[in-house]
Amino acid sequence: MPPTFTTEAIVLRSIRYGEADRVLHLYTRDRGRVGAIAKGVRRVKSRFGGRLEPMVRSELMLREGRGDLCTVNGAHTIDAHASIRESRAALDRAVQACDAVLRLLDSQEPNPPAYNLLCHELQLLDRDPAAATRAQALAFRMKLLLAAGFAPELASCAACGEREHLSGFSASAGGVVCPGCEAGSFALDADAHSFLVNALGRPLAEHPPGSEPVLRQADRAIAETIEYHAHVRMRRVAA
Ligand SMILES: [Zn+2]
Repeated sequence: MPPTFTTEAIVLRSIRYGEADRVLHLYTRDRGRVGAIAKGVRRVKSRFGGRLEPMVRSELMLREGRGDLCTVNGAHTIDAHASIRESRAALDRAVQACDAVLRLLDSQEPNPPAYNLLCHELQLLDRDPAAATRAQALAFRMKLLLAAGFAPELASCAACGEREHLSGFSASAGGVVCPGCEAGSFALDADAHSFLVNALGRPLAEHPPGSEPVLRQADRAIAETIEYHAHVRMRRVAA
């Protein structure tokens, strides 16, 4: 018998497969990214009901297969995040968050900070749809970058270590840069710099606010960091 294991997981994406099945992209607490097939889940009387929908957090029993996909043998809902679907803004942000995890974290190594961050994000959007703002989405991405090991240098010039007059951002240098090292950078206002610092330092629910220009610069810094270091093109966080 192939081995079975139990782990907490969030369904990042669910794709129709065959007549009644779905292939699930899971982010698990204990094994990072896992692909699984849920057999018969699209039948009206499926024993899984809605427990394998995207964004649901559940305890899953999985059986390892011969290929890349596990088979879902059992599911117990921990948090369905049902209110997310009642708010268009919250749903959009939640889909974005799951997509970011899907694209940035493809390793089968467990990453508890990334798993916990996604759980917190979905819980926040579920309980407070008003949290579904661009600033909040950027704070989430910034923390996700940290969890994935790609956080930019923000305390001193990423190229020379200078701690004053940090006025640019360069993804290739690895973070903020001083005027002497500004080649290839774009101008980063002091407010945008402190937005990035606070987004990392504060709890997710207490993300910093930011004006449109501040958020646009922060968005660019995050997107270019992801592109340069993770080699992933991610859509910018729309207003
Ligand atoms: Zn410098």
